Amino acid sequence: MAESPTSPAAAPAAERARPERLRASADLAYPFEPPTPDGAVVEVAPGILWARMPMPMALDHINVYLLRDGDGWTVVDTGLNLPASRELWEQIAATRLDGLPIRRLVCTHSHHDHAGLAAWIMERFDAELFMSYGEYFMLRHYAAPPPDPLPALHQSFYLRAGQDAEQIEHMFSSLRRNAFAPPVPQSYRRLRDGDRLTIGARQWQVVVGEGHSPEHVCLYNASERILLAGDQLLPRITSNVLVMPFEPEGNPLQLWLASLDRLNALAEDTLVLPSHQGVFRGLHARVQELHAHHHQQFDLLLRTLDERGPATAWELMQIQFPKRRGPMDDLMAMGEAIAHLSWLRHQGLVRRWLDDDGRHRFERPRQAPGAVATHDLSETHE
Ligand SMILES: [Zn+2]
Repeated sequence: MAESPTSPAAAPAAERARPERLRASADLAYPFEPPTPDGAVVEVAPGILWARMPMPMALDHINVYLLRDGDGWTVVDTGLNLPASRELWEQIAATRLDGLPIRRLVCTHSHHDHAGLAAWIMERFDAELFMSYGEYFMLRHYAAPPPDPLPALHQSFYLRAGQDAEQIEHMFSSLRRNAFAPPVPQSYRRLRDGDRLTIGARQWQVVVGEGHSPEHVCLYNASERILLAGDQLLPRITSNVLVMPFEPEGNPLQLWLASLDRLNALAEDTLVLPSHQGVFRGLHARVQELHAHHHQQFDLLLRTLDERGPATAWELMQIQFPKRRGPMDDLMAMGEAIAHLSWLRHQGLVRRWLDDDGRHRFERPRQAPGAVATHDLSETHE
């Protein structure tokens, strides 16, 4: 549990590195002006309030939602573990909730901006925490800083990716200074895909997504077509999807793209309540746009390999993410570049081998794609 090479606090950092790469969709509609991050709320449907918690980074806020729940409230996500967020929760509870208590907390996933105050809200408001199993244990895992020195297998993950020891140390020493590490909530109630949760008069279905985090919970109300989307569907930035050193052979983009397809089955006129940026309509258009974004990245990597010949993940990452602003961005960009390379490798479009200098190199296979099974490629060239 203590071997935590990556931190959820890094998620906003990667998003910070990337907005210029992404464009707002012409097909999305934003029916509400967002609330200011000072305790203001916007009612997006009867009994559903939208508030914002500030974050001290370029992605400067997270959306939280408050759902009237009989003689109390259920809240969704928490904000970072910072005094300013705690003060805002106090203010919202005192002025916006009709004098009724917060009884339940749903955390969509384990990242610090979503669950950083889970333990505090449980204690302060005597609220029950609802999460998926995977996210609850990731949250416990993230509570400890990365071990120092880094485990040898984690070190070798980045060495094989093409970085040197100094760069790796630089990334992780920055992560160890993370100021947002949350206290651990000591119990929770488990949400599973397909579960139904009654909140006030509404029924919500749990829809689990994968790829950005292991078992991310979205809540969907079919009768009014409202989706509490977390980071699973953001309107103008892409959520980071990373290969991490504790699962070096993972293919999280496969999981992410499949999760997007499951969300695409929901009604087109769904009101999407995301964790960052504006509440929007245009779910199908946004899913298509996110697919297109990743396929542009795949094409960029393939084109680069065609032009340059074999390359390491570190070299390719610099083509894919030329604008990085420090070691945290490097860490996120490495994980995301490897995620794209893993997807290509599992598709049989790229092959990888361990070179004499201890680095993985990637290249286009000489056979036509599909002529050799993906599994055989990885077996043959490791
Ligand atoms: Zn997240």
